[in-house]
Amino acid sequence: MRIEPNTVVTIAYNLRDPEGELIDSSEGRAPLSFLFGKGQVIPGVEEALQDKTVGDEFSFTVEPEKAYGLRDESLVQVVPREVFASAGVPDVEEGMRFEVATEAGDRLITIVEVADDEITVDGNHPLAGMPLDFEVTVLDVREATLEEMMHGHSHGPEGHNH
Ligand code: ZN
Repeated sequence: MRIEPNTVVTIAYNLRDPEGELIDSSEGRAPLSFLFGKGQVIPGVEEALQDKTVGDEFSFTVEPEKAYGLRDESLVQVVPREVFASAGVPDVEEGMRFEVATEAGDRLITIVEVADDEITVDGNHPLAGMPLDFEVTVLDVREATLEEMMHGHSHGPEGHNH
């Protein structure tokens, strides 16, 4: 069976940044299953998987436009340290991440620089602007159940649990 819309696909994968550093992998945990064609994974991965079948093993690069988007430098902002102190976070360190409510919904921000009085935060997705290198092995392709199609996502082997 080939991968097409309304199939449930199971893959093992490694994801690397342009320097070759592993940033995500299915190794050591359950492989990734999803309903194909519903945007459950980034568009570049769906494009690369289309028409593949069980046992196919391949590598591809996804450009930012088909992954987590381009960086938006207006999302990098300098805020006074008091903002964090008054939010109950007295010790701010580089690399810390927070979920903040904004007008556009919840957004993950990353602390990128800490100075005496000023903290620089970045509201871009950590993988925005980055080409992503994938190695994928297709482990399973099956037809989606009617229930999965209605829900727009795949269900595990234990069936419906939500
Ligand atoms: Zn469901």
